[in-house]
Amino acid sequence: MPDKPLILVCNDDGIDAPGIAALAAAMDGLGEVRVAAPVHEQSAVGHAITVRDPVRAFPWPFRGPSGSIPAHAVTGTPADCVKLAIDKLLPRVPDLVVSGINQGPNTAVNVIYSGTVSAATEAAILGIDAVAVSLCRWRGGDFEAAGLVARSIAESVLKKRLPPGILLNVNIPDLPYDRILGVRVTRQAKARWEESFHERRDPLDRPYYWLTGEFVNLDEGEDTDLGAIDAGYVSVTPIHHDMTAHEHIVPLRDWTWTEKH
Ligand code: MN
Repeated sequence: MPDKPLILVCNDDGIDAPGIAALAAAMDGLGEVRVAAPVHEQSAVGHAITVRDPVRAFPWPFRGPSGSIPAHAVTGTPADCVKLAIDKLLPRVPDLVVSGINQGPNTAVNVIYSGTVSAATEAAILGIDAVAVSLCRWRGGDFEAAGLVARSIAESVLKKRLPPGILLNVNIPDLPYDRILGVRVTRQAKARWEESFHERRDPLDRPYYWLTGEFVNLDEGEDTDLGAIDAGYVSVTPIHHDMTAHEHIVPLRDWTWTEKH
């Protein structure tokens, strides 16, 4: 690795969101910082990629604490941003990709809907150390405190490095920095959305639907991401994209899969 690590900052809330400004500022001084982020908000797009339309990248004026940071706004998803940055926009493969700071938690099942996590997952698939960072608050909040947390976790990752394919999903409680109790390494809680669609009417009296719902924690464990946040700790969950249920491979091999007559 050259003297200064190259750090790519991305997100799913869009390049003008407050969280990405705080994250880029927090990385300032840890390495050479570059930004590639969606031009518009892409929350809850998951790991979508753009294959039926062109993707464009526009230089974007992005200010950090010590001056301007080279940045591109991308007409694509968070995963597109990481792929494109690594292939075309960056001078070399980055040493670290940090995604966020997301407005809202990415705990439990939300990991699979999250564009924030998917940007980091894309980096992990490409063999690059990656961290997704989310603040557990839906509007506003102390992004400066969350930035301090993100910086110390990024420092640890740059020093220790992550196992291949593993990324860190970091959720930060909505607390002032001096009231955050520390870091817990956690697993994803078992939780689900109890969802319903609001039915509404457009001006021509045609129905349309708007997804809404309530998040329900089904997991009392203190070792979960939700447990850590509730107790006032930063949650750090190691995750990977291999969704194979490994323990079920052998039992399934015993099924009779074809009937031969
Ligand atoms: Mn988001």
